[in-house]
Amino acid sequence: METTDRPQSHAGDGADEPAAPPMSEAWTALQGKGLDLDRLADALGGMDAKTLAAATKALERAGADVTGYRAPPPNGDYYDIEGLITEAQWKKMAEVREFMETEVEPVINEAWLGDRTPLDVLVPGFKKLDLLDVIYGEDLETREPNGSVMEGLITMEIARVDVSTATFFGVHSGLAMQSVLVCGSEEQKAEWLPKMRDWSVIGAFGLTEPHVGSAISGGVTTTARREGDAWVLNGEKKWIGNSTFADMVVIWARDEADNQVKGFIIRDPQDNPGYTVEKIRGKVALRAVENGQITLTDCEVPESDRLQKAESFKQVAEVLKLTRAGVAWQAVGCAMGAYEKSQRYATTRMQFGKPIASFQLIQEKLVHMLGNVTALQTMCLRLSQLQDAGQMSDAQASLAKVFTAARCRDVVALARDLHGGNGILLENHVARYFCDTEAIYSYEGTNEINSLIVGRAVTGLSAFV
Ligand SMILES: Cc1cc2nc3c(=O)[nH]c(=O)nc-3n(C[C@H](O)[C@H](O)[C@H](O)COP(=O)(O)OP(=O)(O)OC[C@H]3O[C@@H](n4cnc5c(N)ncnc54)[C@H](O)[C@@H]3O)c2cc1C
Repeated sequence: METTDRPQSHAGDGADEPAAPPMSEAWTALQGKGLDLDRLADALGGMDAKTLAAATKALERAGADVTGYRAPPPNGDYYDIEGLITEAQWKKMAEVREFMETEVEPVINEAWLGDRTPLDVLVPGFKKLDLLDVIYGEDLETREPNGSVMEGLITMEIARVDVSTATFFGVHSGLAMQSVLVCGSEEQKAEWLPKMRDWSVIGAFGLTEPHVGSAISGGVTTTARREGDAWVLNGEKKWIGNSTFADMVVIWARDEADNQVKGFIIRDPQDNPGYTVEKIRGKVALRAVENGQITLTDCEVPESDRLQKAESFKQVAEVLKLTRAGVAWQAVGCAMGAYEKSQRYATTRMQFGKPIASFQLIQEKLVHMLGNVTALQTMCLRLSQLQDAGQMSDAQASLAKVFTAARCRDVVALARDLHGGNGILLENHVARYFCDTEAIYSYEGTNEINSLIVGRAVTGLSAFV
């Protein structure tokens, strides 16, 4: 289903662009506009080389294009993976792109510098876009037939402009909502999911601890003790995205009675006297995500807010598996954005009297970036198709996370380099992509831990300890 708005293919190599008219046609067209061409020819012919060069320079200074060079528009979807989605989904993607480019990009560098999530822009924006509509079925229990592909593409589109925003989206609609979906009772799902779907309640997900990161599957130290109809939680959580402002925080803690990890919803955490959170300062990546360090001191949670279907770490792993694909798509979007910014910069930045894109070494960098971007997109597309078919394994999700994060690092470093000194200025955006990629590389399982998951799957041998 195509509309006239939707590009058939946007290879962006200029191959489909109309050829320039022959000289005689152009001449006739100019005459048609009433220009006295004989006088113009006389004037040009009468100029010596020096006068001609000075006239060209004056035109250049006035912003005129004297080379006749028209750069193709940047296009980071070179194999047209967006061509695989339906018309309605494509329209949603176009709305996301417009929102990200016109409302988020103009404010994101200031928010990033200020260690602040621009909630005033993101919450109404996401609410209006109603993005979860194209991912989940009406009941929120099921997914649309290609909901995972759509979720991936939306994440890519968001991260193409800003990875912090993609993380805010992923923590809420991925980690927190999936915890309720996978582990909640029917009553819990009915209470939380509609409010989370329309962004009137924002969620966070607290698993990592100050002294236990990679080893968390067997090492949760936060404790939960049952006392009558309530639970009492004690411990600390570190790096918890959205936790400084969230309306509900999912906390994973070890039950003192049976030693199993269980999930607890802390509602209105700011009103719970046993819960305190401090914003983590001094990050050099994802600064527009607010990460908190949470302290739980005899924090009381009613039994009705214990996630009723979370019986062990197995359910946490299930949630993480679902969201790991989302982080791989963040890397895809970040690399895509960095490539597109670089193509635009290379075709407009002049050195030695030419756009730097005309130099062979610059073209090689652009091709290297685009090859990576395209490989990441096609890999993640297949991963999400497997997820939609209910066939995605842990190791397949981990392989995508490992590969995309590593290749994204490669792309953003080249983008930074291609922008020269301007590449370290936030205003050109690639410096932000460069820094943010470091967080992608380490969260949702570091490069090493995800490699070990794949390594175990392909060898049958565990090398974790
Ligand atoms: C920006 C950001 C946002 C985050 N958001 C959240 C969130 O919302 N909720 C949440 O719960 N957590 C969150 N995290 C935590 C994240 O998941 C952890 O940082 C991650 O799991 C790694 O743990 P760690 O930082 O403690 O590193 P460590 O586990 O201390 O690892 C340090 C290094 O040792 C390596 N290593 C560890 N074990 C092995 C091994 N067996 N073999 C080889 N190498 C090994 C690691 O790969 C790494 O290179 C976030 C982190 C960041 C940076």
